[in-house]
Amino acid sequence: MEPSGDRAAERLVDQARSGPTVLVLGCDGSWPGPGGAGSGYLVRSARAAVLLDVGPGVLANLERLADPDELTAVVVSHGHPDHWSDLPVLATFVRLALGRRRLPVLAPPEVAARVPLGSSSPVAWDAVGDGDRRVVGDQVLTFSATDHPGTTLAVRVDVAGRAMGYSADSGPGWDFGRLGPGLDLALCEATFTAAHEGTAGHLSGRQAGELARRAGVGALVVTHRWPTCDAAAVRDEAAVAFGGPVGQAVIGEELVL
Ligand SMILES: [Zn+2]
Repeated sequence: MEPSGDRAAERLVDQARSGPTVLVLGCDGSWPGPGGAGSGYLVRSARAAVLLDVGPGVLANLERLADPDELTAVVVSHGHPDHWSDLPVLATFVRLALGRRRLPVLAPPEVAARVPLGSSSPVAWDAVGDGDRRVVGDQVLTFSATDHPGTTLAVRVDVAGRAMGYSADSGPGWDFGRLGPGLDLALCEATFTAAHEGTAGHLSGRQAGELARRAGVGALVVTHRWPTCDAAAVRDEAAVAFGGPVGQAVIGEELVL
């Protein structure tokens, strides 16, 4: 679906000049903290805007921080609601506020069975799995099953000669190498500090830094932190393991790919 309207057209011209970016619309892990939002990252390029996950609070931030009419497709990484709970209201918004009849949503098959949608929903499911590849505008998406309960898909996005990897949710039994070489940016979950390792199917800051270092990624931004865990502590242990500076995702931040 091509974006419409003058604002969207202007934005896409700007995007072609500046190169692809990732706008953080939500980055809290498992539940949103006060004023926060669950996972949501808008990958914008010259000919597409793909939303990776649509957790609680992401639609409001999409309306506040971006032009929702530019949205081309949505990816839902897995069946946990902190990654999809805004999808039913996004579907309503797309139908009633944008007047669109179709919103492509790429997700593992089990997600479609969990998300409650009305019969007039514009959501057009596209079932994807480990190793699958899809082209959305100028973005090429490749999926890799992670180490997390249910089918959970990490995503590689190749666009305009750049590449990013999004871990979705994962434990330490997965690595960025499964998304292939040459990642310029790794957006990796780091749910807690090393003190919590092994207590849930997630990564610590230390483990995220280690995975990114082993894969030789260009830059690392950690995300999906439990709001009860200290941001600086997670980021700092990731930086030590990575061997270089690490960013901590913040709502409204635009990462340059
Ligand atoms: Zn999960």
